[in-house]
Amino acid sequence: MSAHSPTQTDLADLIVHLARLGQSTAATPLTAAQWTALRYFAHANRLSRTPSAFSCFHATTRGTASQTVKSLVELGLLARQSHEHDGRSTLLEVTEAGHAMLLRDPLEDLRKALARLAPEAQRALAASLRQVASGLAQLRATPVFGTCVDCQHCQPAGDGHFCQQAQGYMSPDEMEAICVNFRPGNASL
Ligand code: SF4
Repeated sequence: MSAHSPTQTDLADLIVHLARLGQSTAATPLTAAQWTALRYFAHANRLSRTPSAFSCFHATTRGTASQTVKSLVELGLLARQSHEHDGRSTLLEVTEAGHAMLLRDPLEDLRKALARLAPEAQRALAASLRQVASGLAQLRATPVFGTCVDCQHCQPAGDGHFCQQAQGYMSPDEMEAICVNFRPGNASL
């Protein structure tokens, strides 16, 4: 017999159902993994645009993540660039064609359905889902992904914010990007 209430079981089923339904459309030029990767590299900050960070985010092996990345590079949707501080490592950037492809993202219908919720309900749902994602990452001993505003490494500095992990100031765009070095629980912002 399950140790969980019917509500918890229903919610877990519903989350998986929504994720599958949101990604599936009759005709799509990319696989679900390729869409996830393209979205990830469009929203990840400069510390996180690597195949290994993507493998953590997508909960897959580095080999599988590298294959997905390679296929997107071959399609011209991602481009490899040298890391500005470390010439040996590579960062992935979404190309113009990649951004054009994202306009056809099958998740758009799910976003439209979410937009029908009241702003308060959207905020509450986002906070709850972040908490669940954080709890799941803790149970699985994997990195939690999040943005600067909720991160312990982020400190107010003058008119902006400073990241103690990256030792640099964060631009407004970077503040909203997802990060593999995120540490939940910022009490100072
Ligand atoms: S403050 Fe946190 S989330 Fe933001 S870049 Fe630094 S480590 Fe990443």
